[in-house]
Amino acid sequence: MGTSLIRLGFLRYSMDSGNSGTRGDSMEPVAKAFRTWQGNTHFTFSRVTDTTNANIKIGFSSRDHGDGVPFDGPWPLGQVIAHAFAPIDGRFHYDADEQWAAGVSPGSNSFDLETVALHEIGVMYFSDPGKIHKENLKN
Ligand SMILES: [Zn+2]
Repeated sequence: MGTSLIRLGFLRYSMDSGNSGTRGDSMEPVAKAFRTWQGNTHFTFSRVTDTTNANIKIGFSSRDHGDGVPFDGPWPLGQVIAHAFAPIDGRFHYDADEQWAAGVSPGSNSFDLETVALHEIGVMYFSDPGKIHKENLKN
């Protein structure tokens, strides 16, 4: 069932994966990023609370968190700020050791939750299928 729904373009995401859980202030930026992709592709994204039924599993993790791709600590010593596994895995982790914000002004030391979500979702679904993507973009 999951696979045929993906082919039809109906995707579910959850916000509670990762060894550091989630953050309340990440909900709306992530939802906005999905709305942007939904408006520009044939995909429809909806949030579910049950991670086992989600195609995309989003959360915050730090250092070694059990998926074989440990994070490297806070920027700038740690260059990776997020990563995502292509379908059908679908895990998308923010590095919990970074400073994250919903909306970032120029000169800020924080990374923008929505910008990174926008990018990671794009990488997961629209380029390089089967590869893990490590995000090290600094705004
Ligand atoms: Zn991870």
